[in-house]
Amino acid sequence: MSENIHHNVDSGEIDKFSRLAHKWWDKTGEFKPLHDINPLRLGYIDSIVRLAGKTVLDVGCGGGILSESMAKLGAGSVLGIDMAEKSLQAAQAHAQQQGVGNIGYRCVRVEDLAKERPHSFDVVTCMEMMEHVPDPAAIVAACAKLVKPEGTVFFSTINRNPKSYLHAILGAEYILGLVPRGTHDWQKFITPAELARMCRQAGLDIADTKGMGYNPLTKVYRLNGNTAVNYLAACKPVFQAV
Ligand code: SAH
Repeated sequence: MSENIHHNVDSGEIDKFSRLAHKWWDKTGEFKPLHDINPLRLGYIDSIVRLAGKTVLDVGCGGGILSESMAKLGAGSVLGIDMAEKSLQAAQAHAQQQGVGNIGYRCVRVEDLAKERPHSFDVVTCMEMMEHVPDPAAIVAACAKLVKPEGTVFFSTINRNPKSYLHAILGAEYILGLVPRGTHDWQKFITPAELARMCRQAGLDIADTKGMGYNPLTKVYRLNGNTAVNYLAACKPVFQAV
């Protein structure tokens, strides 16, 4: 195991996000794409689970772009977790400044939270995070353990194929400069089949999948049926007979 990887946390990745922590809420900065896609993913989540009153966990929440929007939409409570303290401080400060009360942030590994609070969330979201960890299957398993039996887990990540190399690495990082160079490692991208296998092993069933496309001419993101690059999945715990 490489020196900077410990307990399924890659400290190189955490450092990378910590260095940019002051930029989380700069809507024109390094995290612009996350701000731009947020209404789409928020709408998708809400269309499936109706967030109002729900107990939500956001895994790898960063500066809280998605967490805060779910709280504002009426979730009963939102807990955002991440391993980058500085990002959590930025998230907390922004929530306070916005007067959002139904939200909290904690620096805790998702695997540890799963032991502490199993089956206690109606909704678990884990967006754009799994491609930054050494063992994504362990993250999927922890999310599966944290969700209530009747709850829903949402994942989003990036597919691994030549097109995703062209779009997410060459296009987004080198040609269009949408995100900083080195944000992503193509080899850590996850195919829908790999995600499906991780879900199956964790006792989750993928109920729905959507692709997310970007048109560089109109600069508009859209949800569609094409999972070739960015995609989202909504998963339900498989009923287990006792
Ligand atoms: N989910 C947020 C942020 C995505 S950026 C959003 O979509 O808006 C990826 C995030 O994953 C960063 O905040 C990074 O600190 C976090 N991360 C990376 N490895 C992690 C780990 N092992 N546990 C928790 N968070 C992690």
